[in-house]
Amino acid sequence: MQHLIVVGGGWSGCAAALAAAKKGLAVTLIERTDRLLASGLVGGIMRNNGRYTAAEELKLMGAGELVEITDCCARHAGIDFPGHRHASFYDVGRVELPVLQLLQSHGVKVLFGRRVVNVEVKDRLVRAVILSQGREVIRGTVFIDASGTAGPTANCSRFGNGCAMCIFRCPTFGPRVSIAVKAGAEKIPLQRPAGQPGYFSGSCELEPSSLSPDLLRELRQKGVVLLPLPRELIDESSGSPAEEKACRQYVLPQFKENIVLIDNGAVKMMAPFFSLQALRRFPGLERAVYRDPLGGGRGNSIRFSGMVLRDNRLLLPHLDNLLVAGERAGLALGHTEAMVTGTLAGYNAWRISEGLEPVLLPRNTVCGTLIYFTRQMGRTAAGRRGIYTLSGGLLWDYIRKRGLYTTDRDKIYHRLQKAGALAFFEDGS
Ligand SMILES: Cc1cc2nc3c(=O)[nH]c(=O)nc-3n(C[C@H](O)[C@H](O)[C@H](O)COP(=O)(O)OP(=O)(O)OC[C@H]3O[C@@H](n4cnc5c(N)ncnc54)[C@H](O)[C@@H]3O)c2cc1C
Repeated sequence: MQHLIVVGGGWSGCAAALAAAKKGLAVTLIERTDRLLASGLVGGIMRNNGRYTAAEELKLMGAGELVEITDCCARHAGIDFPGHRHASFYDVGRVELPVLQLLQSHGVKVLFGRRVVNVEVKDRLVRAVILSQGREVIRGTVFIDASGTAGPTANCSRFGNGCAMCIFRCPTFGPRVSIAVKAGAEKIPLQRPAGQPGYFSGSCELEPSSLSPDLLRELRQKGVVLLPLPRELIDESSGSPAEEKACRQYVLPQFKENIVLIDNGAVKMMAPFFSLQALRRFPGLERAVYRDPLGGGRGNSIRFSGMVLRDNRLLLPHLDNLLVAGERAGLALGHTEAMVTGTLAGYNAWRISEGLEPVLLPRNTVCGTLIYFTRQMGRTAAGRRGIYTLSGGLLWDYIRKRGLYTTDRDKIYHRLQKAGALAFFEDGS
C-alpha cells in the first residue's frame, strides 16, 4: 500500500500532509514535540503585502483550508504597519487545534513526541524512517522532509547567544533532524553579514499581563502599537543588530527606532533584542517579562543554518521519492510560504505514489514565483546571503516588478484561469 511519511508538523508539514490526504493517500505525520505548528505558534502575521495574493491563490488552487483557519483565528485584519499593508494577525493560542482536527478529519495519523533520527535508503528510494525511541522503524513509499531549520541547541550555542529557551524546546524533545541530509543531501548554510552560519529568529513575545493595563488595552483595540524609542534606549538595545535577524523588515528604520507591538493573542514584539532591564525603563513596560523565548532579551533561535537544494517540483535530485518543504526547502521564510511549498510537496507526493509525473506550479503566479525564485537564489553563494519572503526584500520587489502582486480577487482569479491553475491541486482526483 502507498504511504506518505511527513517528518515535521510545522505549517509546511501540515500543508503537505493535508494536500496528500485530500487526494486519498495514507499519511503519517511525525512530530518530535507535543504540538503542531512550531514557529507558527509564535508569529501569526498573515496576508501582509504579497502574502495576501499568495493566500488567495492557494484558495483558488484548491488548497485554502489552512489559510481559512488562520483567517478564522485572526484577532485583527486589514492592518497597516511600517513596511506592511493589509496584514492579519492570528491568535497563536487558538490556531493549532483546528489544524490538528482538520488533519485528523482527513485521516492523517499524527504521531506526537516521536523524533526521526535516520533513514533507510536503497536504489534511489527512501524505504523507512528510524525513530529515536527504541530504534522503531516506520516504512513508507514516499517521504517529505518538513523539519524546518530552527535550532538545535548546539547551533544556537555555536552561532548565536546560546539556547534562549524558545518554542522549539530542543533540550526537552531532542534536536531537529533532516531526513534529506541523512539521505545524502548536502546541507547548505546561509551566512549572515558577519560571516557566521544562520540568522537569528526575529520577534519575541511578551507576557500580556506584564504590560500596563492601558498599554495592553490600546494594543488589543488597535492590533499594533508603535512606541518610539528614546535615543539612549536605541543605544542600549543589546544583543544582535537587526541585520542578523531572519525577517527582512527589521532593517527598516521604523523597526530600529520604535518598539513595534502586535496583538497575536500574546504580545509579539518586533524590535531589536532588548535587555529586560532596558525594556522595563519604557512607560507601560515597567513589569515586562519575556514569554517566548524566555531569554528573549539576549537573542532567539538560530535558523537557516542548513537548507538543501531541490528542484522546482521540490524533489531532491538524487532520490525519486523524497521531497522537501518549508524552510528546509531553502531561503523562504513565513507561514504562507511554508503552506505553499508544503502543499506542492504533498500534492507531488500523491502524484509519485500514483505513478504520475510530479508537477511544477505555473510561473505566472505568486506561489510559483516563490518556488522558482528561491531555488534560483539558492544556487549561488551571493543568493544565499539573503532570506526571501513575499512581504519584504528582494522577492517582494520581484513579484511587484512582474505585476503579480494585487489584492483584487477578480484579477487573481483571471490570472490563475489564464495560467490553467484554478483548482490546480484538485487535478487528477
Ligand atoms: C519567532 C518567530 C516569529 C515568526 N513570525 C512570523 C510571522 O508573524 N509571520 C510569518 O509569516 N512567519 C513568521 N515566522 C516564520 C515562520 O514561522 C516560518 O518560516 C514557518 O512557519 C516555517 O515552517 P516550517 O514548517 O518550515 O518549519 P517549523 O515551523 O520549524 O516546523 C518544523 C517542525 O519539524 C519538527 N521536526 C524537526 N525535526 C524533526 C524530526 N527529526 N522528527 C520529528 N519532527 C521533527 C519540529 O519539531 C517542528 O515542529 C516566524 C518565525 C519565528 C521563529
